[in-house]
Amino acid sequence: MFEAFVAICLLASGDAQAGTQAPQRCRTALLPGYASESQADCEAGVRANPPAWLARSSAGVPHCEPRPPARLAFVEAAPGLFVHRGAIAEPDAANAGDVSNIAFVIGERSVAVIDSGGSRQVGEQVYLSIRAISDLPISHLILTHMHPDHVFGAEPLREAGAQIVGQLNLPRALADRAGSYETSFGRLIGAPAFLGSRIIAPDRAVATLEKMDLGSRVIELEVWPTAHTATDMTVLDLSSGVLIAGDLVFHEHAPALDGSLKGWRSVLGDLGRGPARRVVPGHGGPLLDWPQGGEPLGRYLGVLETDTRAALAAGLTLSAAATVIGSAEAGHWQLFDLYNPRNATVAYTELEWE
Ligand SMILES: [Zn+2]
Repeated sequence: MFEAFVAICLLASGDAQAGTQAPQRCRTALLPGYASESQADCEAGVRANPPAWLARSSAGVPHCEPRPPARLAFVEAAPGLFVHRGAIAEPDAANAGDVSNIAFVIGERSVAVIDSGGSRQVGEQVYLSIRAISDLPISHLILTHMHPDHVFGAEPLREAGAQIVGQLNLPRALADRAGSYETSFGRLIGAPAFLGSRIIAPDRAVATLEKMDLGSRVIELEVWPTAHTATDMTVLDLSSGVLIAGDLVFHEHAPALDGSLKGWRSVLGDLGRGPARRVVPGHGGPLLDWPQGGEPLGRYLGVLETDTRAALAAGLTLSAAATVIGSAEAGHWQLFDLYNPRNATVAYTELEWE
């Protein structure tokens, strides 16, 4: 099978200056949607109908070559359910934003993907990983929430044919944050790894609960009140009893609170009483028993609330409180020093006005 590729390059003023030796500013992007049995058919397809964004980029002429092997490792967590464990790390040039978990479910008719990684490059690799296993249409990409490490890989999956589905608040949340996410994530990952990555709008929003039939395989999308973020949605694979929880469940990677502490504790309790028997967390895992797999997060959130209430009762200022809240949890989580002070600040601000 042949796939289409194009070299995309960074537009930089320095490139035009005589004698300037530009650092590497290009990367070869995969363009899903033109897969063909022959190179000629693939190239005719991409010439006739190139993706619109190419015209706005500093891109070369697309060409086709044999489909390369997939580089992203997926394990089959249950029959027809594949999961990838992202690195427990901050996004950088080496991991290209591959720092969150990704899953896909294969039905008899189509494939649904859950989350897309933190750059276009990761999304391209997800596409290759699916194609290494199945030739069925990729019908849906379900985004569990707005965070950049879960959404920047969306566009190539849409080019592969997926409709992008998110929680009711997701379109607005992404539109509001697109610029800052592109700047901050682009800075962490840097060119060329981040080239071609951008926030795109979901095609459809889910308001409450929705069953999606992939062909003798039904998954259930469920929307939650503000918890990890105000855009959280989970996916339950009914045939395997595996809950793909997005960042409503953290494991090993320090939790990140960007919504409501009280809301998250409540939602975690609801999830624990649900029908799932195993969970794919947003980070760590990638497959844990449920609800036991949520216990470390439950404990952390409990400590965060207890410590925050104590700090408020003692009259600590926000900056003083942020140094002590949650500190007993330090040994239990990776990247703790990066996330815990932010979580303490969110918790303090939320509980201060009760
Ligand atoms: Zn998140």
